[in-house]
Amino acid sequence: MTTSPAEIESFIAGFEYRLAPVERASSEAWWELATTGTEEAQKKLVSTGMAYNELFADRSEYELVKGWYEGRGSLESSVLRRQVEILYKTFAGRQGDEETLRRIEELEAEANAIYSNHRGVVEGKETSENKLREVLRVSEDSILRREAWEASKSVGRKVEDLVRELARLRNDLAHAEGFADHYTRSLDLQEIDAVELARLMDGLQAATDEPFREFKAGLDADLRRRFGVEQIMPWHLSDPFFQEPPERDDLDVDRYFAGKDLAALTRETYDRLGFEVRDVLARSDLYERAGKDQHAFCLRVGRSYPYDVRVLANIHDDAYWMNTMLHEFGHAVYDKYIDPSLPYLLRTVAHINTTEAIALMMGSLADDPGWVSSVAGVPEEDLAPDLERLAERRRADRLIFTRWALVMYRFEKALYQDPDREDLNTLWWDLVEEIQLVQRPPGRDEPDWAAKLHVALAPVYYHNYVLGYLTAAQLRHHLEKNVVGGPFYVSEMAGRYLQEAVFGPGARNSWEDTVLGATGEMLNPDYFVKSLC
Ligand SMILES: [Zn+2]
Repeated sequence: MTTSPAEIESFIAGFEYRLAPVERASSEAWWELATTGTEEAQKKLVSTGMAYNELFADRSEYELVKGWYEGRGSLESSVLRRQVEILYKTFAGRQGDEETLRRIEELEAEANAIYSNHRGVVEGKETSENKLREVLRVSEDSILRREAWEASKSVGRKVEDLVRELARLRNDLAHAEGFADHYTRSLDLQEIDAVELARLMDGLQAATDEPFREFKAGLDADLRRRFGVEQIMPWHLSDPFFQEPPERDDLDVDRYFAGKDLAALTRETYDRLGFEVRDVLARSDLYERAGKDQHAFCLRVGRSYPYDVRVLANIHDDAYWMNTMLHEFGHAVYDKYIDPSLPYLLRTVAHINTTEAIALMMGSLADDPGWVSSVAGVPEEDLAPDLERLAERRRADRLIFTRWALVMYRFEKALYQDPDREDLNTLWWDLVEEIQLVQRPPGRDEPDWAAKLHVALAPVYYHNYVLGYLTAAQLRHHLEKNVVGGPFYVSEMAGRYLQEAVFGPGARNSWEDTVLGATGEMLNPDYFVKSLC
């Protein structure tokens, strides 16, 4: 027996009615926990998370939706078909034994609280992550650097068992749904073809092998000179996981932003594109405070119009936070400009990787000479000596990111293949040595992988940054070559184009069709790879 489209629509309408308040409450709880770090907020997050899962707990409803999904080819309306696809993936993502789901919620909340509240110890003092990062960026003292680097990893031991247990539980859910492991299941739920992704990642590794080797050799030579050491160790690099290019003393990008109001620069940037972010800024929580989440994110609370979009950050007047603010507000404008007349389920981004693409494209303006002079107001004569170094740094940035993302991709795949394997510490460092060309400290056997928040709390996510980078390069190329004919960031036409081609349609189309629709071609890694070699 087939269901009529009208019956499907009526089910969806009823479902939205139940979903909307829970979704809102869950986001509110998330925001409260991140801004206060209290135990009460943590409990609220767990209970709203459970209420959310409950919405998807009725197995017969799931079977119904699954049937519609499998027969969706016969639905005439593509809008309804897309809703069925999203509804099914949302249901499928929450199937599982109630006890296991509850346990996962609890452990995630627990891990989240540990990452938020943990402070590494340097010179006998508890030290914020911002401070640790600063030591690694600027200190010339190898001993202090080593202490800061080790402190940055100290959270690993506290969460290691939690992370392994989370991986086991996530795998249990995957097995019950017939998947080999959580990694495979997650890709399926994210509408990403595992074979295609593996091909893409292998391709990126091969394309960056030589350029990265050459780059790293040059970098090591610089660092040996700078620190007067023979062997470069991880703490000589300028961040805990070698995700960014090290500081170079002949290029000070922080000076562009010293003493400046980064929130105002963010507003100015989006003004030029014709996007209003004053409402978002007003609802945001932007400066450091005790007990507050030390990272940054963008959150949309509910889906009713006008949208309630907020950003959490911990602004310092430097290049890192400029990049981060532009990045998070990239997510924010995407969320804010989704067509409110779309059905509820489509009133969201097309995919994690399309919203990352916008965020990355915007964040990278922070070291784009054109933006730094025209929007951030740094006089061109001050910038002139930096131009070549900025271009080198940009390339270094992408190379380093790609190699780091490959470590995460390969590590997580292995973690979910066998969360019980005893040699995870070794595996992590094998990958870091092979792919990032960073040597492990002699004898080190610590759960350094667990110190990376994403491994615990944003699993099977990193490839979306990679896809985001590729999409960002392709989209910017299209905007500047075919839409604007110049820098996109000072063009209201570019803003309108983004609104019409990317933000407005929300989740109306799959991510692949969104990329095709916005750039006229399927995802093509060439634009990104060209910038690396
Ligand atoms: Zn992001």
